[in-house]
Amino acid sequence: MRLPHSFQVGLSFGLNSAVITTLALMIGLAYGSGSKAIAIGGVLIVAIADALSDALGIHLSEESENRHTDKEIWQATFSTFFAKFIVAVTFVIPLFLFPLLMAAWINILWGIALLFIFNIYLAHQEGKNPLGVVGEHMAVGALAVGVSILLARMISSF
Ligand SMILES: [Zn+2]
Repeated sequence: MRLPHSFQVGLSFGLNSAVITTLALMIGLAYGSGSKAIAIGGVLIVAIADALSDALGIHLSEESENRHTDKEIWQATFSTFFAKFIVAVTFVIPLFLFPLLMAAWINILWGIALLFIFNIYLAHQEGKNPLGVVGEHMAVGALAVGVSILLARMISSF
């Protein structure tokens, strides 16, 4: 089944951004603070505030394309918000269930699995080469996580 453009835009942006932002922030906070409460708080802030900001970003970008109806623009806006919110919230679960370090590793594996599955599906929807799309998005994710670990190390060494 082929998704309408508006849902595809929202899902693609919301899902990828949820995994990459949440993972990077969670790892940075876990590494830097060693506190579960801070890591959980950070993930929940991403789930709400960053999801709203992404939804607004997609809303503006779809509007500026000047070729969508109001309904399509709002579909893209809401699907971005919910995709990001729901995916971001899943990263809280391991933090509640396991010790911090183990939860961080579980979340890294979960994030890799999600990026892999989403991007194969999205590439299929868009008729693109799945390996190219998966590779690109995983590379961005790895870069974001790497940078946040470095930053957390630098900050915690002060
Ligand atoms: Zn569009």
